[in-house]
Amino acid sequence: MNEEMVQELAQYSLAKGLPWLKFNFDAQKLTLIVDNHLLSTYRACPTAFMEMHVEGYHPKPGYGVPNLRRWYLDFGIVFHKMVEIYYKEFRNETFNMVEWASVTGYKLWNESNLDAYSQHPEFHAIGGFKGFCGLLLQYASRFKSENEKFRVLGTEIAFGKNREIPIYRGEYIEIYLAGRMDVIVDDGYFIMPMDHKTTGSFRRDPLERYLLDDGPTGYILALKHILPEYVPEEMILKRDCSRILINMISKSVPKDNPMDRFRRLPIYKSEAQLITYKERTIATVMALLEDVYRFSQTKSVPRDTSHCTNWFFDKCPYYDIHRQSDLAGEQATKSNGYVKLPLWDTENIALT
Ligand code: SF4
Repeated sequence: MNEEMVQELAQYSLAKGLPWLKFNFDAQKLTLIVDNHLLSTYRACPTAFMEMHVEGYHPKPGYGVPNLRRWYLDFGIVFHKMVEIYYKEFRNETFNMVEWASVTGYKLWNESNLDAYSQHPEFHAIGGFKGFCGLLLQYASRFKSENEKFRVLGTEIAFGKNREIPIYRGEYIEIYLAGRMDVIVDDGYFIMPMDHKTTGSFRRDPLERYLLDDGPTGYILALKHILPEYVPEEMILKRDCSRILINMISKSVPKDNPMDRFRRLPIYKSEAQLITYKERTIATVMALLEDVYRFSQTKSVPRDTSHCTNWFFDKCPYYDIHRQSDLAGEQATKSNGYVKLPLWDTENIALT
């Protein structure tokens, strides 16, 4: 990418208001603040990335996909908020587990209007709000204060806004990592992020799904950078910071033992893996920039059609646009069935 292209991209970004792509006038560089959602959307299908993160198109309710927002995302957000509250308060004498699960749980469930997904198979698998409340009580019982042999160092840790995690600084381009950790814990040997992943049910070895996932690797890299904000340096020197804990939660209840719906998986990443993660991220971002440039010139960008009917276990939200035979058809479909929503802002992440 040469200086002229960078200048053109900077102007394009300004005109489109892309929150994740800015021009740093002091450094005279294009600044990208990327997170796992942005990168994984691009890797899944560059064309979907343009529709979602450059144009901001999202399907209207009932148009091609069941809802404006997705059950998986909305349920995950509510669950993440609940566990963040849990780890903030669970060691307080005044913490009331039943109140947390029922009153707070109901409040967040309602605020996100999760009952709107009552037709979704996973809504039935979990048993609606009553089942959700039961899941929370089971969680608090399985991971009760006496069982958790660690100290909570922080909850809801968003990073990226202050560009704390540099991935690349080149002549014309700089890349930073953004994200949000649920919890940071210290078990006396390791200081590590603890993340939560909800899934329909456990099939095969649940660790397989996250062992190669770039998201957890990014968290470990980020933790190493931001840790001095949370603990004194002497403490960091005495601990290893090369792990992440993944708490996996099955939405459906296993028949043999209901408590089998929780698994805690530690994942280790070596320095070599962190280096290759950075290299992969740089390669993805450079390809992404080339494609955004192409898109800004109204040229076609690549598609990965293997995701058209399997977009994170569902039909791709842009399927109805891209099955049209010409641009006029695509435009008509967008006007009738899609709305433009605010673009994903990696510096102001509510939850990922
Ligand atoms: S429908 Fe297929 S080609 Fe179109 S954005 Fe989705 S995955 Fe990409």
